[in-house]
Order: sequence, then structure tokens, then C-alpha cells
Amino acid sequence: MEVTMSRRALIRGLAAGTVVPLALSGCATNPETGRSQFMLVSQGQLAKLSASAWSDVKEETPVSIDPALNNQLRRVGGRIAKGANRQNENWEYAVFDTDEKNAFVMPGGKVGFYRGIMEFSENDDQIAAIMGHETGHVSARHAAERYSQQMAAGVGMQVANVALSQRDSRYKGEIAAILGIGVQFGIILPFSRKHELEADKLGVDYMHRAGYDVRQSVRLWERMGAEGGGRRQPELLSTHPSPETRVRELDAYIRQRGYA
Ligand SMILES: [Zn+2]
Repeated sequence: MEVTMSRRALIRGLAAGTVVPLALSGCATNPETGRSQFMLVSQGQLAKLSASAWSDVKEETPVSIDPALNNQLRRVGGRIAKGANRQNENWEYAVFDTDEKNAFVMPGGKVGFYRGIMEFSENDDQIAAIMGHETGHVSARHAAERYSQQMAAGVGMQVANVALSQRDSRYKGEIAAILGIGVQFGIILPFSRKHELEADKLGVDYMHRAGYDVRQSVRLWERMGAEGGGRRQPELLSTHPSPETRVRELDAYIRQRGYA
């Protein structure tokens, strides 16, 4: 558990009704990471929230109907879901028709890739590296964890409560930010470095189990790093750990696991 708010403040919040304990509260161990997490929100509640944010994004961003890109995303998505042993969940995929080199995932298995990152990737393996990373965020329940931390810390508490009780478009951006897609609405609330590196490692595990070339994750980040040195920094870089750090950590993890 990684909450900065004191227990006393939390109890005060509960008494004042500003912190609403949801179906599931307290610490639970995540089987995927073996790590204990502080949760104030249930998977069902978050999935509902995420479904409405997903339709907002699809309304506000052009969706690509390019069959090659869509087929590639579904093909890789299906294999990675299997590698993560989550093939029975309802995954939904969309390619957004913008140049951004970015991708996101929301609880409930909504996966968005921008055309920019699809075109930047050299092969299925590199798409699989990103897909594995995004799937890692889902397995490790990072959005729920962050949401709970935000609520406990009093940030966006009203937003969170409103979001769960009724749809209020005023809070669209904040809700999206909590779920991890805030960039879309100009609000950046990055996952912690710890979450990012955890997702990277889970992603490599899924790639390996799905039969992809795990070394391509390293190559992808080397290329992203080189790109960042040029003109505009790709979004994935500005909200995530530095590519050099990822390359180093991924490389060490791949060796340690004996994957390559
Ligand atoms: Zn991430």
C-alpha cells in the first residue's frame, strides 16, 4: 500500500462523507504481482466508468477504419490476451486516426492505439511489446490502485463520487486522467514509475508466452529514445520513464528470466 494520506485523515474523510468506501475497500494482494494494493473501488465500478470514458474518446477522436491496422491490432491483442491468460475477457480494440505515438488501456479491457504508434512499430512483435505493457496495467490493476490513491489523498474525490453516481461531462477530463487516458483531454496524470516498470515486465512475460520476440521490446524503446532526441517529444515519453531506463530494465529482466 502506497497511500500518502494518514489513517486519521481517511477516517475523518469517511465521517464527513467526503470519502465513500466502495464495495471493496482495504488492502488486497494482487496475484499477478504478489503486491498488496489499497483499493477503494471495485472492478465492476471501474469497468462502468471506463465504458463511458471509452465512448467519449471514440466520439471525440477519429477512429481509423484501415483494415490492415485494425486486423494487426486485433491479431496481436488476441495473442497477448492469451499469453496473459485473459482471453475470456471482453477486450475491445480501436485504432485512433491521429499521428500520436501513444497507446492506452482502460479497466475492462478497452485498448486504444493511435495510428502514429502503429506506423512507428516495425513489426507485430513491437506492437506486442506495447500491447503487453498495456495488458500489464490491466492485470496489475494499476488504474484501480491509482484511483484509490487519488480518492484517499482527497484529489478528485468529488469527481470520483460524481463519476460513480452519475455521468457528468464537466469531469470528463479528470475521469479520463484517473483512468490513464487524460492526455486525450489535455490532463496528464501519469502512472507512477513503479507502475510503468511493473507493466513493462508483465508485458515481456506475456510476449514470451505468446511466442513473440521479446528483444523487440528493447528495440522499440531504443527507437523511441532516438526519436525523442529530435523535434517534438512523443507523448509516451513525456509521461513515462525515460526510454534509456526502460531499455536498461527490460534488457536486465529478459536476461534474468532467460527469455533471450
Ligand atoms: Zn504505461
